[in-house]
Amino acid sequence: MRRVYLDHNATTPVREEVLAAMLPYFSERFGNASSVHSFGREARRALEEARETIARAIGAEPSEVLFTGSGTEADNTAIKGVALAQREKGRHIITSKVEHKAVLETCKFLEKQGFRVTYLPVDRTGMVSPESVEEAIEEDTILVSVMHANNEVGTVNPIARIGAICRERGILFHTDAVQSFCKLPIQVREMNIDLASFSAHKIYGPKGVGALFVRRGVRFLPLLHGGEHERNRRAGTENVPGIVGFAKAVELALAEREEECQRLTRLRDRLWEGIRRRIERVHLNGHPTERLPGTLNVSFEGVEGESILLSLDLKGVAASSGSACTSGSLSPSHVLAAMGIPPELAQSAVRFSLGRSNTEEDIDYTVEILPEIVARLRQMSALEV
Ligand SMILES: *Cc1c(COP(=O)(O)O)cnc(C)c1O
Repeated sequence: MRRVYLDHNATTPVREEVLAAMLPYFSERFGNASSVHSFGREARRALEEARETIARAIGAEPSEVLFTGSGTEADNTAIKGVALAQREKGRHIITSKVEHKAVLETCKFLEKQGFRVTYLPVDRTGMVSPESVEEAIEEDTILVSVMHANNEVGTVNPIARIGAICRERGILFHTDAVQSFCKLPIQVREMNIDLASFSAHKIYGPKGVGALFVRRGVRFLPLLHGGEHERNRRAGTENVPGIVGFAKAVELALAEREEECQRLTRLRDRLWEGIRRRIERVHLNGHPTERLPGTLNVSFEGVEGESILLSLDLKGVAASSGSACTSGSLSPSHVLAAMGIPPELAQSAVRFSLGRSNTEEDIDYTVEILPEIVARLRQMSALEV
């Protein structure tokens, strides 16, 4: 049976070149980057080269990039780190209702610690308006955190304009750029970004490695205490193989970025056109144009998204309903709810996220099997009523 992976926003396979770059750092180049002998220096060199690669990719200085154990850790470090360091300045944080759980749950935690958080609404396409950020700013606002591209629907936020507003008011601006990194251009200076989170496993790097950009001069407290790793900003022996793999993945992705984006946009639109033409009562969730190249979120009226996923899986197609972190729970997506999608339609949503391995044949196969699946499930649910 054909196997089609359409869940690249959840994770991606490690590219062959990435794996090859990592392997020596598990064995012959196993040194601790903090050791002063030649083994350590070898690891240190690889670590600092990787840091330069990531910094260059976003227009930052290497000293402004620290490595973390995940995108989640980068988000936690950015938000808790700034909140704790600047609590005397203010106790108010602004974020949006459609953030990843790594941001939302961190903000909820801070609310329990005495901070106030404003969760901005989004429009029907899932976009945060710069005006709403401006209106939410209070006397003691210390941080704004708005994601670059949404993982469930792919909508891309006007980050540069939000950043400009924050900069003008002297408020720090963090963006979760995990989904947009190496897919959309990110230049931290031009976009007025003070902190940004990244993760390797969404871009064909290994799991368990992330990075956080922190603009020089931004005060924050580390999450982890211990040795003097990462300039005292993140204790713990660096995951050198993972970090080397992350940098390799970035290098490869950037070299192919524009071409791959165009290819994925074409495939994504082919999938939507196929679905729209062959199945009635379907709705596109997310922004029609300001959207990640490979992300397509569709509601199939009258059918549970979860049932579609099970049927697709039996036919070898892997998709998801919203984010991987919330699938399995039957509560409707917080992102679709914030967009004002009625609960029945939110429950019937399926996210297809395309990537490197996908071909036109994959898309055509998916379009071919979907109408029958949806028709059968609609018939069944009609019988239940
Ligand atoms: C995947 C993801 C994260 C979490 O990154 P991990 O490395 O899996 O912890 C955070 N934010 C967004 C938008 C994501 O898609």
